Amino acid sequence: MEIIKTISEMQKAADDNRRQGKIIGLVPTMGYLHEGHLHLLRLLRPQCDVLVISIFVNPIQFAPTEDLDKYPRDFGRDEQLCRSEKVDVIFYPDVQVMYPPPFHTFITVEKLSEGLCGASRPGHFRGVATVVAKLFHIVKPHLAIFGEKDYQQLMVIKQMVKDLNFDITILSAPIVREADGLAMSSRNKYLNPAERKAAPLLYQSLLTAKKLCQQGCDDPVEIKKHLGELLQKIPQGRIDYISIVDPHTLTPVDKIQGEVLVALAVYIGQTRLIDNMVIGR
Ligand code: AMP
Repeated sequence: MEIIKTISEMQKAADDNRRQGKIIGLVPTMGYLHEGHLHLLRLLRPQCDVLVISIFVNPIQFAPTEDLDKYPRDFGRDEQLCRSEKVDVIFYPDVQVMYPPPFHTFITVEKLSEGLCGASRPGHFRGVATVVAKLFHIVKPHLAIFGEKDYQQLMVIKQMVKDLNFDITILSAPIVREADGLAMSSRNKYLNPAERKAAPLLYQSLLTAKKLCQQGCDDPVEIKKHLGELLQKIPQGRIDYISIVDPHTLTPVDKIQGEVLVALAVYIGQTRLIDNMVIGR
């Protein structure tokens, strides 16, 4: 396994591999790897010859008030996990390597970036789209995989790839959860024991939405009311949003007819957790 820290070396390795006809697969991450990330590696491993993971905590997707400085990092542990998953290359650049000043070019994916997390984290998806576009130019993958845990991110990246004609196939993977239903996330590390105990309520509320829908409720307002009541039980909890949207356009629906995406963001103490589920009638 190689660890590459510069753009020129990464691009050269990509060019060499492409010249030899090898298929390059990329898993972009911010590190502090957990089973959710490993699942992406395992899905992509058999589909490519060269498996690349990028580990980069991308400063431009964090607002000044957010958790950039305290975002968990443990490269030694990540490296061991990557070795056991038969990763070929870890691309592990510094911030100065990715954003040498001056840096003035950003990608905005309109519409899909505007609601849900985009509304409460202005500029977040601009930062995500920009870094992913850079990673695509640096790693030159044929395939890249993203988790449905970050559903809106996945949609934004798919739209960017389509609109800007990146010659890359975007794959996706279902949400990997802890035994009690909590979606795995590097940020779960922030939760204290009481917060951790309450956190599965996000998943339970999504299951409640599914059940209500199966029982014939087609009114998003009513479902959101139920979910709000459930999520209010979280001690030190604060609901950022509960949304029921079209799974393709991410715009709110008035009535549940086909499939819809139920998406949540909830603060537990200082920690903002997200989760989602596609449900349908
Ligand atoms: P992150 O390191 O949090 O930026 O995540 C890197 C990639 O892993 C993204 O495509 C995420 O959607 C994906 N991911 C993170 N957590 C999970 C999870 N619990 N299940 C599936 N994919 C995940």
